[in-house]
Amino acid sequence: MFRMDTQSCADESMHTIYDDEVFQMACEQFRVIADYLNIDKNDREWATYPKRAVAVTLPVHMDDGSTRAFQGYRVQHHIALGPTKGGTRFAPSLSMGETAALAMWMSWKCALAQLPYGGAKGGVAIDPTKLSRTELEAVSRRYMQEMIPFVGPHTDIMGPDMGTNEQIMAWFMDTYSVYMGYAVNEIVTGKPVAIGGTEGRREATGRGVVYLVERAMNMLKMDPEKCTAIVQGFGNVGSVAALSLAYKSGVKVVGISDAYAAIYNPKGIDVKAAEQHMIKKGNLRAFDQGDRVEPGEFLTLPCDILAPCAVDRVITGKNAGQLKCRILAEGANGPTTPDADLVLDQRWDEVFVIPDILCNAGGVIVSYFEWVQGLQAFLWSESEVTDKLFRILEHSFAQVIRRAKDHKVSHRTAAMAIGVERVIKAKQVRGLFP
Ligand code: GLU
Repeated sequence: MFRMDTQSCADESMHTIYDDEVFQMACEQFRVIADYLNIDKNDREWATYPKRAVAVTLPVHMDDGSTRAFQGYRVQHHIALGPTKGGTRFAPSLSMGETAALAMWMSWKCALAQLPYGGAKGGVAIDPTKLSRTELEAVSRRYMQEMIPFVGPHTDIMGPDMGTNEQIMAWFMDTYSVYMGYAVNEIVTGKPVAIGGTEGRREATGRGVVYLVERAMNMLKMDPEKCTAIVQGFGNVGSVAALSLAYKSGVKVVGISDAYAAIYNPKGIDVKAAEQHMIKKGNLRAFDQGDRVEPGEFLTLPCDILAPCAVDRVITGKNAGQLKCRILAEGANGPTTPDADLVLDQRWDEVFVIPDILCNAGGVIVSYFEWVQGLQAFLWSESEVTDKLFRILEHSFAQVIRRAKDHKVSHRTAAMAIGVERVIKAKQVRGLFP
């Protein structure tokens, strides 16, 4: 349980629609950075609370003839640097507070990569795996329909996140375009290439994770051929990261998992076979290459690279001391709690952390490329996209490492500080109106 500092977000007696443990975690992370940067207390609430937040009810006809009303959210964190940008999450436990935390992280992430965006996030409190295709389409279209007054290619651009995919982005784009009367493909990123999506978006986040892991291995003089990896999560990020580690970097992947199974095999897992299994069965429950392990035990198994690519708060004060990896590559958003950071700060020479806002930035960077291509109606090749992606990641990585070294702070503190500074500076220079 994290206590909100009176200097970071709000006075503890002040209740807001964001009250939630994940939002408190994002505030606590911000407080650490604000203290380090000596941010004036007058600027702290302004920097943490979202600019706008919308909650909508989505009535949908279900296949069995019933009508369900699902809850949808969209949070736009700040608009000092440009329109807001962020993914859409379909997950049963999604709340306004969690959405706000994710939007705040998007702000620091975009600013670190120098994208001209504020952060946003949205989604529906729903389990997409429990819906038929018709129901999923109805929820997706209804969500976009309700959001039309609040989003736009120059105000807030949606993208994919956990539980959503290219097809859902296509339904969003179609719903918005039907309403406007012409094709507005720049309203959403992560669309299929057939309707103006960019080459390389689907693979971008996982590819970015692996690019940075390779940079870290190189810095630490680790031979990829002698390294092992455990990847938590086998969705869009985890599966691409695991495939790329195994077949591009030459790392032996010894652990993979999804919401149903965690599999460990010290001899190495055939990740392509796991991908095929996933395509056929939809989950890893019956994938039989290795031992089943308890999810709690999975992250503390021996490996050189540990890549949490699933949900938030999996590395805590309890298990951070037991991690056996040399590199912690945070493909997920918010996988490590502030309590765990205190432990990892002590272990800085044992565990090299690639913090989430750097590690998983590949997704939103290529989303930015997709938006730019859409606005200009000028499409790039996959190699142009990947080259430009790696150039931005390289620059961000170098800045974070240099800042951490010069100021003797953790990689997370360095990464967040660079992002937070840019946002605060933009807010200050634009000023408070009136
Ligand atoms: N959901 C991704 C993230 O958390 C990307 C969002 C986007 O492409 O807009 O960074």
